[in-house]
Amino acid sequence: MSHERINRLELAGNRLVVSGKPLTDWLEGSNQAHYIYSKQDIQHKITQLKAQLPSAIKLHYAIKANPMQAVVDYVANMVDGLDVASVGEMHIAMASNTAACDISFAGPAKQLVELEAAVKAGITLNVESVTELQRLHDISKQQGVKANIALRVNPDFELKQSGMQMAGGSKAFGIDAELIPELLKTIDSHWLNLRGLHIYSGSQNLDAEAIITMHQQTFELAQLLLNEIEALGLATDLQHVNIGGGFGIPYFKGQKSLDISPVSDSLQALLAGRTGCFANIDIVIELGRYLVGEAGYYVCQITDIKQSRGKTFYMTNGGLHHHLSNSGNFGQVIRKNYPTLLADNVTTDNCHTVEIAGPLCTPLDIVAAKIDLPEAAIGDFVVVLQSGAYGFSASPLRFLGHSEAIERLV
Ligand SMILES: *Cc1c(COP(=O)(O)O)cnc(C)c1O
Repeated sequence: MSHERINRLELAGNRLVVSGKPLTDWLEGSNQAHYIYSKQDIQHKITQLKAQLPSAIKLHYAIKANPMQAVVDYVANMVDGLDVASVGEMHIAMASNTAACDISFAGPAKQLVELEAAVKAGITLNVESVTELQRLHDISKQQGVKANIALRVNPDFELKQSGMQMAGGSKAFGIDAELIPELLKTIDSHWLNLRGLHIYSGSQNLDAEAIITMHQQTFELAQLLLNEIEALGLATDLQHVNIGGGFGIPYFKGQKSLDISPVSDSLQALLAGRTGCFANIDIVIELGRYLVGEAGYYVCQITDIKQSRGKTFYMTNGGLHHHLSNSGNFGQVIRKNYPTLLADNVTTDNCHTVEIAGPLCTPLDIVAAKIDLPEAAIGDFVVVLQSGAYGFSASPLRFLGHSEAIERLV
């Protein structure tokens, strides 16, 4: 129970409270598994982050972390823009009333129809290959509309200690940094508006020092490329450099929340050190899970309790099909438990070690393994914290044909 997130929970007696009400009251008598997303938690997180970051930094929400329309609508009101990774996400972003100029589209294999739709909509395309640049030029000519583009750069460094490496070395993402100077010479500014650069290097990072180093390298690379852009006379439409994100949240025992304050101090210095056309354009940070991950509560019900050769199993109506990442099958090397509790009995008294398993016919369907919880009864609710990002939409919802989880923003 020593998880940092658990220590910060709001309780009414032993009941977990979310957005001002005991969590299980939000289910309104339903037994179905739910994702409950808390507006209060989202707002708290974003307000806190904005207060800590230099005010010149623009904050974008990468909606793939949680693309539920209500969540996107809610977050959109608190950030400066949205980042999407497909045309499906683009439609969600546009439905949130975010202006096209504040939406950017990254994705390593954008299809022709996606490029056409995005150019038509006027959003900014983060160009990920030489072919894509050519296609955008052709589409602009055909449509008679100038495409807004940013070049996604695959830097020659990586974000150390990341949950996921997205840059450095050979990658499917972006254009290698060393190829950019030559490529710039081919940009026809009659048909393409060069809005900026996109340098994204990784995800789920809790190490402030690693992020600071990555920011230093990113600013250095951006300065170099922007000098080239300026020298070629291509700087007139520049608006931003997206320096990526990567801020993580603690999922497992022993992990600590990211300390933003040294990151912020370093950003302040880097902002001040910019020269030339770099000095006057926006710096964008794009975050997904950091904004919404801690605001999500996955709740499922215990439908059976059984013993097997000395172990107690709480069997639930929720599992891997709703919450793949919690099952340990979404990029983890060694499975560990997310912070998991009984929603209406959050106590450390009289705990015993149990296994919690879902309804799927596969041993991979683990909700929690070897976890210390108080005695539960059939009908009690299990809650998995830190479930607001890469949950519902990142799970194999049709696998085995069980009912879907219900999503609610409260
Ligand atoms: C996935 C992704 C993000 C969001 O990552 P988080 O870990 O959720 O913050 C941001 N930008 C790009 C380009 C991505 O691919």
